[in-house]
Amino acid sequence: MPLASELERAKDYGDIFALVKKAVKRSLGQHRVGLMLYLGNLPMRVGAFHPLGTNDIVLNRRLLEASAKTEPKWKAYVFSILLHEYLHTFGYVNERQVRGLTYRICLDNFGSGHPVVEAALTGPWVNLSPEEFESIGEEMDLERVKNFERIDSGYII
Ligand SMILES: [Zn+2]
Repeated sequence: MPLASELERAKDYGDIFALVKKAVKRSLGQHRVGLMLYLGNLPMRVGAFHPLGTNDIVLNRRLLEASAKTEPKWKAYVFSILLHEYLHTFGYVNERQVRGLTYRICLDNFGSGHPVVEAALTGPWVNLSPEEFESIGEEMDLERVKNFERIDSGYII
């Protein structure tokens, strides 16, 4: 299980995102930089949101707090949701295709039965429209995650 033990050692969003990038590089040969991560209060049915045309990913703070009480589960959620949104940032807009790719990449890199693969299957994958996103306003309480993207990917062995 190449990435599974690295995920166990991951400590924060930046660590997990580095592994997301590694997995996408391995499975699709694609790589990009320049993304920013925010935590925000989105509706509970939504895992995350990537406003099209931006470099931003907004993770649903409330959902992660409520549904992922244990560390392995939290990591599995964060990994699969970040992977899904990361794929959107390459311009994949078809939701079915992105879900299929998310599942396949998780399977490739973690093997069947791993919590990450489970999370990739179950979602939550409900889309938010840009209008809905706008309408949340102040309540979203956006908070930028510092040190999210490390350009030097050699930091984790
Ligand atoms: Zn999506």
